[in-house]
Formats: sequence, structure tokens, C-alpha cells
Amino acid sequence: MEHVIIIGSGPAGFTAAIYAARANLKPVLVASSVETGGELMNTTDVENYPGFPEGIMGPDLMARMQQQAERFGTEVLYDDATSLDLTGPVKKVTLGSGKTLEAHSLIYATGSAPRKIGIEGETRLSGYGVSYCATCDGFFFRDKTIAVVGGGDSAMEEATFLTKFASKVYVIHRREELRASKIMQERAFANEKIEFLWNSEVADILGEDAVSAVVLRNTIDGEEREVALDGVFVAIGNDPRVHLVHGQLELTPEGTVHVDGRSSRTNVPGVFAAGDVIDPTYRQAVTAAGTGTVAALDVEHYLASLGDAGAPDPEEAAIDGLPEVE
Ligand code: NAP
Repeated sequence: MEHVIIIGSGPAGFTAAIYAARANLKPVLVASSVETGGELMNTTDVENYPGFPEGIMGPDLMARMQQQAERFGTEVLYDDATSLDLTGPVKKVTLGSGKTLEAHSLIYATGSAPRKIGIEGETRLSGYGVSYCATCDGFFFRDKTIAVVGGGDSAMEEATFLTKFASKVYVIHRREELRASKIMQERAFANEKIEFLWNSEVADILGEDAVSAVVLRNTIDGEEREVALDGVFVAIGNDPRVHLVHGQLELTPEGTVHVDGRSSRTNVPGVFAAGDVIDPTYRQAVTAAGTGTVAALDVEHYLASLGDAGAPDPEEAAIDGLPEVE
């Protein structure tokens, strides 16, 4: 029986692991069988994470977080949680490998997944010119004409990044004002390769085996027109990954996991949540890391309330080869 299982390997999951490991709780972190590190694995320079004045690449930051969590005794499993049983005092996690884990407590930090436009051409041509990750797929669009859909920070970041490869980048936004922060807007406005198509929504994405054009609908007068291009990057936000807890944890009207005030406590005792999966508003790496800290501290209090059952074994407390931790 584990003290705590953490589901998710983004900034929230790894920060929770660092704190829980330093409290000698020997956390087991389920990191995914596909990619460890969460959303920051799909980004380039992270310029706003404190402590890195020159910026740091997203994947490098996540690798450092993982090293820090492992240094204090976190066990990282490269596997997927496929179902959870959160009822009762013992929390059960079934993994893709078929193995089942059991713990006194669980931290749910599964983050969020890219939102889809929800049109036929998008699904059909996904991977054939439709992408949700500029850093993953930008390379394939050297000297091509592409579009980024969205008006937030992600769209500006992707559009600016994609100008390294593409000859032209349209930004398709449904309004005539961006949601992105001022610095990201200014960077995109100053880039000669970027052209903004305002008040436009993507009605369809065309192409036989690969994207050849988009059909844009004007959001003011409804008029439609075709724009020829080779690729479409969708950056219209993210939705919290709550599929594993549907029917088990209370959700908010925004679809995130409901937590009690500024704590990480869900409506189920012993189950805590952190990161983008609880946050419909701020969704920054540093805020996710902060809520990961909250979750680990809440777990400590919860386990202490269980008495001997949840307490870390003093025999296990000294982690081999490590300096004393405070
Ligand atoms: P976001 O801020 O929610 O922006 C989503 C954008 O997509 C909005 O412009 C929205 O339009 C548009 N949109 C939403 N649904 C749409 C639909 N169905 N069809 C067409 N357009 C649609 O999401 P985000 O850009 O992914 O950013 C999420 C969070 O991460 C934010 O807090 C952001 O600051 C942060 N972030 C920060 C950085 C950075 O600091 N370097 C980088 C990336 C993300 P409306 O504006 O009309 O609603």
C-alpha cells in the first residue's frame, strides 16, 4: 500500500512529488506511457518561469523537475492510469499494463488537452496538415503557407514560432481583438510573415490526403470564402482532462475538478487535485506548480489525520545517499 499516488507529470504533478518525497511519503507518480512532462513538452522557450532569467526550453524545465522529484525518492511509472476507484479509504489505480496500485491518498494532476474546433475536415486531416503542436510539427512546413487558429497566448506563441519555418502564417481569430498578453501580441504584430484574418471562424478544412485550403466564415456577416494553405495549427485553448474522475469527483460549471477554497481537497476524502485540471483561469506553469505544493501539503495533513495507518514509516524515512532534508 502506497502513501500517495500522483497521476500526472506536468509542473503540478512533479512539484507535488518533490514535496511529498521530501516528506518521506515515497510518492509513486504515474507519468503516461507516451510522453512525460505535460503541456510544457510542446512548447519552446519558457520566459516567465521564475529563476530562469534567460528563459528555459519547456522540455528542459520538465526534465529538471523530474530529476528533482526522483532525487528525493519519487518512483516514476511510465504507464497510463486507465481507471480509478476513489470510493473508500483505499484508492485504487488501474494501469494500462494491467497492474493495480493502491494508496491511502491520491493527487489528480492530469492537466488539460487541446480543444478541437469540432468540424469534419479537422478530424479527417488530423496528422495530415492539421496539428495541435507547433513545436512537434512545425518542421514539416518549411516554406509553406499555414494558419494558426486562435487569439490567445498559445496562438501568438505558435504563430511566431512557426515563422521560423513557414513562408507565411495566417492567424485566424473569431473576433477583432486578441486575448493574448500585450507582449505576445506585439511580437506577433511586428512579424512580417504573420497576417491576421479577423472576425473569421474556420467552417471547414479542405483537402484529399493533405490540407489544401480552409473555408472561413465571417463572424459578422456570415459570408464564406476559401483560403489556400498547406497546414492548420489549432490553438484555441485546452479542456481539463477529467475523464478518469467523471461520476466520482464533483466538477465545476467550467468542467474543472472542484476543490475546497484555496486547498486541493476534492469532495472525496483522501483525493486531492492540482494544476490545470482545477484551474479554468490562470493556467500557468508556475501556478500549476504552486497548486502541486498545496496538494502535497494537504496530503501530509490528511495522512497525519489517519494516525499510524497513513504515517510514513520512520525506518523508511532516511533516503539512501541523500543529505538530511529539512
Ligand atoms: P485561451 O487564453 O483560452 O485562448 C483561446 C483562444 O482561442 C481565444 O482567443 C478564443 O477566442 C479562441 N477560441 C476558443 N474556442 C474557440 C473556438 N471554438 N473557435 C475559434 N476560436 C476559439 O487559451 P491559450 O491561448 O491556450 O492560453 C491558455 C492559458 O495559458 C492562458 O492563461 C495563457 O496566458 C497561458 N499561456 C501562456 C503562455 C506564455 O506566457 N508564454 C503561452 C501559452 C499559453 P476568444 O478570445 O474570442 O474567446
